Amino acid sequence: AAKSAGKGRYHFYHPNLSESLITRLSREHAVRHAVENDEFVVYFQPRYGVQSGRMSSMEALVRWQHPERGLLYPGEFIDVAEDTGLIVRLGELVIEKVCAQLAAWKRMGLHVSPVSVNVSPHQLKVGNVSSYLAACLRRHDVEARLVEVELTESAVIDQSRGVIRELQELRELGVKLMVDDFGTGHSSLAQLHRLDVDVLKVDKAFTDALTSGTEGQVLFQAIVSMASALDMCVVAEGVETPEQLSMLRKLNCDEVQGFLFSPAVPGDAVAALMARPAL
Ligand code: C2E
Ligand code: MG
Ligand code: MG
Ligand code: MG
Repeated sequence: AAKSAGKGRYHFYHPNLSESLITRLSREHAVRHAVENDEFVVYFQPRYGVQSGRMSSMEALVRWQHPERGLLYPGEFIDVAEDTGLIVRLGELVIEKVCAQLAAWKRMGLHVSPVSVNVSPHQLKVGNVSSYLAACLRRHDVEARLVEVELTESAVIDQSRGVIRELQELRELGVKLMVDDFGTGHSSLAQLHRLDVDVLKVDKAFTDALTSGTEGQVLFQAIVSMASALDMCVVAEGVETPEQLSMLRKLNCDEVQGFLFSPAVPGDAVAALMARPAL
C-alpha cells in the first residue's frame, strides 16, 4: 500500500499518524528547549524513620517550571525524555542541582539529610551516571554518603556489562542503592541482595492494600521480614492516612514517605520541614 501511494506523500493523508507524529515531535522539541533554557527544577520530598519519628532522607523529584503552563509534573514529560534520550541530559541536570542544593544547605549550617535521585533504566545503560555524579560531588565538595540512587527493578537486574559496571562504580563511590516501586517488577529479594541493594522502596499499591484486608498486611509483613533478614531497609511509599502509618509501625517498616507527612517542596522550603516535628 505504501508503494502504490507513490511519491512518498501518502502519509500526509493519514490523519492519526500525522497528528501523533506532529505531537511527538513538538513535545520532543519542547522538552529539548526546556533543557537548554534551564526550565527544570528539583523538589524534595522527605522520608521519616518510623521509630525515630525524624526526617531521615529526601527524594529529589524533577518538575518543569513551564513559562506559560506553570509547574508540570514528570507524568507530562519523563516519557518523552526517555524515548528521545533527552533523559540523559535531564538526569545530569538533576544530579547537578541536587549537589548544588546540598552544598547550599551545608553553607546555611543545616544538618543535611541524604537525598535520593531517580535514575531511569536508559540513563543507567548509556549515561555515565557514576562518573558524572563523582565529578559533581567533587566540584561542590559534597560527601557521597549524602546522595543515594533510586533504580527500577528491571534496571538493577539487567545483566548487561555497562549496567553491571555502573552499579559497581556507584557502590565504590559510597552511594546507597535503592530499588524504587518494589513489587511491581520481576526481581526477587535474593537477586537484589546479591546486587547489594541497600533499600527497598515498596510501591504505593502495597501501602494502599494495608488497610483493605488482611492479605495486604500479610504481604507487607513478608516483605519486611525477608528484607530485614537480608539487611535491607524498607521504605513504604505513598503513605496517605494515619491508619496506614500505625499499621506500618506494627509491621516494623523502617521508613515512610507520603502526602500524610509532606509532598515534595522546593529546596528553600526544606529548612522549615526540618525544623518541624515529624510523625
Ligand atoms: P517515584 O520515584 O516512584 O516517585 C514517587 C511519586 O509519588 C512522586 O510523583 C511523588 O510526588 C508521588 N507521591 C509521593 N507521596 C505520595 C502520596 O502519598 N500519594 C500519592 N498519590 N503520590 C505520592 P512525581 O513527582 O509526579 O514523580 C513521578 C515519577 O517520575 C517518579 O516516581 C519517578 O519515577 C519519575 N521521576 C521523578 N523525578 C525524576 C528524575 O529526576 N529522574 C527520573 N529519571 N525520573 C524521575
Ligand atoms: Mg523514586
Ligand atoms: Mg517510587
Ligand atoms: Mg512510583
